[in-house]
Amino acid sequence: MKCPICNIYLGKSIIANAEVDYCSRCYGLWFEEGELEDAKDEKDRDLRWLDIDLWKDPARFRISPQKKMCPKDRMPLYEVQYGDSNIKVDLCNLCYGVWLDRGEFKNIVVCLREKAEHRILYHYTKDLLEEAWEIFSGPEMLREEILDFLAILKLLMYKFAAQYGTLSRMITSLPR
Ligand SMILES: [Zn+2]
Ligand SMILES: [Zn+2]
Repeated sequence: MKCPICNIYLGKSIIANAEVDYCSRCYGLWFEEGELEDAKDEKDRDLRWLDIDLWKDPARFRISPQKKMCPKDRMPLYEVQYGDSNIKVDLCNLCYGVWLDRGEFKNIVVCLREKAEHRILYHYTKDLLEEAWEIFSGPEMLREEILDFLAILKLLMYKFAAQYGTLSRMITSLPR
């Protein structure tokens, strides 16, 4: 699979049982739907009830087609923005993969830190951190951000993935 921006092959990293593909040039991250599923564990069930309202209201999603191609299918990705926020992710409507640009990743981190709930989320991901250190196999740059990364991984799983049904319907109803 190739980076949608740099067109070089993506590397693989295992973080907290989740396999993640990353670009060693732009540090974009690619999550496959199945990979997010695999990352779930028993404790994660509690996390589902956390009220982190990054993507709460489906009516506030704004979707626009991108030039970037899905690393897997080579089909155009759709950028999803939430309201007026800086939160943007790129979705593939075929394989349900999620692409995060470096900047998109940073914006989510900033937004999370501004939320009161972030402490709960970070507290939770801290428990996973020791284990994650030991099995981490990605570049140093991502290693430094592993706590942020884990928090975002959780959000993608529980908040974003939950909206997928709505998002897919919105994407398929766009004029071609
Ligand atoms: Zn890249
Ligand atoms: Zn795809």
